[in-house]
Amino acid sequence: MNQIRNIAIIAHVDHGKTTMVDELLKQSGTFSAHEQVDDRIMDSNDLERERGITILSKNTSVYYKGNKINIVDTPGHADFGGEVERVLNMVDGVLLLVDAFEGPMPQTRFVLSKALQQNLQSIVVINKIDRPGAQPMEVIDKVLDLFIELDANDEQLEFPVVFASAKQGIATLNLDTPGETMEPLFETIIDIVGPHKGNSEGPFQMLVSNIEGDEYLGRIALGRIKRGRPTRLQPIIITTTDEGKRQAKIGKIFTYSGLNREEVEIGETGDIVAISGLGDINIGQTLCDVDHVEPLAFTDIDAPTVSMTFSVNNGPFAGLEGDYVTSRHLRDRLFKEVETNVSLKVENTDSAESFKVSGRGELHLSILIESMRREGYEFVVSKPSIIYKEIDGVKNEPIENLVIDVPEEFMGAVMEKVGLRKAELVNMTTGNKGYTRLEFKIPARSLISYRSEFMTDTKGNGIMNHSFLGYEPAKGEITSRKKGVIVAFENGTSTDYGLFNAQDRGTLFIDSGVDVYEGMIVGENARGEDITINVCKQKHLSNMRSSGADEALRINPKKNLSLEQSIEFIEDDELVEITPKNIRLRKNLK
Ligand code: GDP
Repeated sequence: MNQIRNIAIIAHVDHGKTTMVDELLKQSGTFSAHEQVDDRIMDSNDLERERGITILSKNTSVYYKGNKINIVDTPGHADFGGEVERVLNMVDGVLLLVDAFEGPMPQTRFVLSKALQQNLQSIVVINKIDRPGAQPMEVIDKVLDLFIELDANDEQLEFPVVFASAKQGIATLNLDTPGETMEPLFETIIDIVGPHKGNSEGPFQMLVSNIEGDEYLGRIALGRIKRGRPTRLQPIIITTTDEGKRQAKIGKIFTYSGLNREEVEIGETGDIVAISGLGDINIGQTLCDVDHVEPLAFTDIDAPTVSMTFSVNNGPFAGLEGDYVTSRHLRDRLFKEVETNVSLKVENTDSAESFKVSGRGELHLSILIESMRREGYEFVVSKPSIIYKEIDGVKNEPIENLVIDVPEEFMGAVMEKVGLRKAELVNMTTGNKGYTRLEFKIPARSLISYRSEFMTDTKGNGIMNHSFLGYEPAKGEITSRKKGVIVAFENGTSTDYGLFNAQDRGTLFIDSGVDVYEGMIVGENARGEDITINVCKQKHLSNMRSSGADEALRINPKKNLSLEQSIEFIEDDELVEITPKNIRLRKNLK
């Protein structure tokens, strides 16, 4: 029988996680000859790919010399904090994959800190050693610094290092001896991550670490079998530490093989499995043998840090573009989301048309918004607001770790702006190619709306990453805005003439020939106040020059705001209108 080993993979986007897992699958012979290996194995969801992050953890398993290695993906962003801890609960070690050129990045920092806290052993894989300019030894030093900063214990600091080129399918323990296959990595995993030690003879026990929805099977519980070997149709007790228990019966049991879910009669101790037939099962509950009802401890899901109001679109264009537009639609969709998106919270408000949606960060919420938009929903959202937390009678607020890479010439501007936002510089290092890396601690609320300013200030040359650090006593007032907006004066269609007149005042967000309405935000004013402009204005014939040929009006290219940028842009009295076809901004006129 295969020995089971469970490992989580931690990597910053683009450091080569997908390529690495593909290669492990290929070389382990997990695929039979007729199976095609899709190039993009781990991140399969379009939305995730566009945003360069993994949202839902996925399991892949590879077989190597009588071992089954379950590889669990970790979410690439701290906005999915609760999920990280639950994933790490299922594994005995982590693979930290780091680009040999870029070095460790802030998103991995958060996940790694959680792994170290759970006392997991790490294997550091320095990937892309084939890359010109790769600095594997320097990168190891940086990884070591990071481990020290994160309070790794002595044993954790002794991490083994594997040098790899996932792209070429090779790994080695020693840079002087180029690798030929991935074998050194496989061997290191087997060496470091012990086989699961659970008692296979004992009564069944499994903590539900995740839930998946399946069209046919309903809710499916995912987790690692802690003890015993469950069988199909076995009666069990489902329990939580505080909420009593209920009887249930196992439906089907699935294990992971390669990329597939495979049905089995019996689940093996230590394996990561999916179990159907349990009705309204939830994360954090324990599945137990009927005679041994012993709930397992569960790491609480991280509390939401940001909330936004989702409302029915009540603007002049309401219902014109969406398939699902009523409060009923909105309500059903949001409450359905909560069932599987566990760090999300949805609450009713005083108005039947609005719901308060709270999540782990702007990204967490914007992913939901974008998914709904693609499904055909139409609605409006408000500016995100930070959720404060009372700790020992003191008002605390979420603080982020902000890492900025900028060319030296823009450093002054960045320091000044984040300084105004109550950021504290914690570290500064000179990095690659004349870039300086600045690390700050900054209130999460300061980051909302900073990104677009940052892009402007660094002329698009800066890179900004942030991750949740913790709570600190609230920092007091932070003054933000920036600039006023240009608002459309009346309903109509924008014209070259109207836009030509408007563009002197600031930056426009629309082209000509676009339907607009009174109160819609069509641009950013260069000054502090809001102005209303008639962008639909037609040129009067009497204004026509008598000299004949009319000069073509030169309209500047519009500034395209992404969904995230739109959300970060708006102020308290403004809304983002979301439909399957358009993202508009508007004043919240009653
Ligand atoms: P992920 O976002 O971490 O899943 O990263 P991917 O596996 O998608 O890889 C990101 C990019 O890096 C792709 O263009 C890969 O072809 C490339 N890449 C991955 N591994 C290597 C490597 O070992 N060497 C080089 N030069 N490029 C690599």
